[in-house]
Amino acid sequence: MNAYSTICPGCNFGCGLYIRENGTIDLDFRKSSPANAGKLCRFGMSLPRLYKPVKSMVEGKETTPEEAAKEAARRISASKGSVAFLSLGNTTCEEVLAFQKLAVPYLCTGANFDALPKDVYLTLSVGIPYTEIEAAKHIVLFIDPYEQYPLTVRRLLSAKKKGAKITSVWWKDLPLADENIRPADISKLQLTKDSLVISDFHPLSDAEQVKSVLSLAKNAGAKVTFLKPFANSTGAYVLSKDAKQKSFAQLVEDINKGTVKTLFCLESDPSTLIPSETLSKLTNLIIQTGHASAGTAKANVVIAHEPLYRKKGTLINNEGRGQALGGAGTNGLEALGIIAGTKFEFDSLHDAVKKALGIQAVDEFLIPKYDRPAYGAIQAAAKPPEAKTTLVSVYNPFMWFGLPDDNDFVELNLNTVRALKLLKGGTLKIKSNGSTIEKKFKVAPVQDNILLTGNRFGIEKGSITPVEISR
Ligand code: SF4
Repeated sequence: MNAYSTICPGCNFGCGLYIRENGTIDLDFRKSSPANAGKLCRFGMSLPRLYKPVKSMVEGKETTPEEAAKEAARRISASKGSVAFLSLGNTTCEEVLAFQKLAVPYLCTGANFDALPKDVYLTLSVGIPYTEIEAAKHIVLFIDPYEQYPLTVRRLLSAKKKGAKITSVWWKDLPLADENIRPADISKLQLTKDSLVISDFHPLSDAEQVKSVLSLAKNAGAKVTFLKPFANSTGAYVLSKDAKQKSFAQLVEDINKGTVKTLFCLESDPSTLIPSETLSKLTNLIIQTGHASAGTAKANVVIAHEPLYRKKGTLINNEGRGQALGGAGTNGLEALGIIAGTKFEFDSLHDAVKKALGIQAVDEFLIPKYDRPAYGAIQAAAKPPEAKTTLVSVYNPFMWFGLPDDNDFVELNLNTVRALKLLKGGTLKIKSNGSTIEKKFKVAPVQDNILLTGNRFGIEKGSITPVEISR
């Protein structure tokens, strides 16, 4: 039996746990973990389903990781000038640094930093310590913590116990909120310098919405923190601060235009984010990963190595806490070395990570000091949805990782159910752009004309999709 002290990859909250391999994968709670004190959410408990074994392949034929890496190197070299490199922040800081050397011509970390003012980069990248959430007097949520970043709920409840007021700006009433404001009524929101604004930042974030949150916090002198969807989103962003990056939207556009023909993905499943008609335009989809996914089934080349929990290396959670993975694997670095035509030494990359963080050793009980410089005034033009009825996709760990979930329904309010004369236990027809799907529904305290879902149905256009609904 092998046991590993590791971190859940489901979001940037950085929850610690143990994984045991004994023919199957089993989880144990790691009570000493400072981020989560051992607790895990539904996604964390589903990790054995995520870590499906993967094999190295070239055009569907099994091969060795070394041969797959060599074939990837050949294809990348033959496609020079039309290769993009994508890593969404789900791998170690050491691999991120090695990957950056490969990705100089076209690096994409998934974040649309180029649509945002440069001086907000570090505010978006590094969140605040969770103890500051617990100590806040007024917390304003631009997320649904239950669905999206579940372990945040414990910190919010702790703040509430100490007397904090919680305001949600969301499409549904949240059980822990003292005040629920709908996104279209944002003018009712009152912030002060004692407020803490919690939002999120991810590859599909609307830049105007992010700017709007930053601007509200700035104007009130309030604190702001952004949660993120991948275990090492913070590490990937901090280490890429000075690298030239392309936005995720640009990557999709370049594949559609045909200027990107080869896409190399490191520990990232592009099929959860990039439409299949776009992916089908690629000549080469190359995926280097430690677990099977919908993307590996579509890839021309799969370079398989150890899963994240067996890796040696460092992750940085949303607070900026350095977290050491408890494995010894460096096969991922070796494969990157074959592709780059060099040898990446773990120790020198690890030293570079420590230097970037300004620390002597990675210690999960210490948060390094980060510079989150004040940013300047921001103009934002976020618009509430205009369509009469709108499907709102609430991105959560199951969606980011393409892991099937059992919540195959939409939430809507009783007014909508009555207006459509929907039957208890029945279904709802949802039409968008010529496609119609039929889904179960659940009655919830949701805004009129809004359908909420934590699932992907294949008719979405980003997070906000205008739809028509009927019985
Ligand atoms: S809150 Fe995030 S890191 Fe923690 S168990 Fe859930 S998905 Fe994993």
